[in-house]
Amino acid sequence: MTSHRDKVLALFKECDALLQGHFKLTSGKHSEWYFEKIRLIEKPAVLEKIVDLLVDKIKGDLLEFDYVVSPAYGAIAIGFLAALKLGKNFAFSQRVEEKMAFRSGFSGLEKGRAIIVEDILTTGGSINEVLETLKQKGVEVPGIYVLVDRTAGSVLVEGKPVGSLLSLKVEAYEPDSCPLCKAGIPLTKPGASDKK
Ligand SMILES: [Zn+2]
Repeated sequence: MTSHRDKVLALFKECDALLQGHFKLTSGKHSEWYFEKIRLIEKPAVLEKIVDLLVDKIKGDLLEFDYVVSPAYGAIAIGFLAALKLGKNFAFSQRVEEKMAFRSGFSGLEKGRAIIVEDILTTGGSINEVLETLKQKGVEVPGIYVLVDRTAGSVLVEGKPVGSLLSLKVEAYEPDSCPLCKAGIPLTKPGASDKK
């Protein structure tokens, strides 16, 4: 029997959204894990299986809401698919002159209840912005979900960890103190192979 976590990991690996190895990040630091989040939406059939697992989790929390809301652009496909499977409405937020906003066309959002669905939690920045924007509209937000919490619960939103399908602490090491370098694992630069 494979565990739920193994099943989730296998799906992320199946669409190459999660790479395991020894990577040089744009910051110059080294890491064992690398997320290529655009790959999540590149293979809709795999994404559907991932979203099914997220939807199971959301249903299990027995929240009341009318909308699934996601920030543009990467999470739109994820939130839309989740909304479809949950039988709810969908809306997305987008930056307008740096500020998070909703198109006025999403007329049913005001004064309702919405959950937020995002792809990957790294700093919580965009989730907090979406949350603030919804609150200003009088929308209640009973739940916040991400596919991957790469802070493993250390970033809190309103004092609580967000719901996640996969919780994974991604350590970034200075090259001098990188255990993967010490172990002699070849260093790769993600994305470099695409730019031939
Ligand atoms: Zn290294």
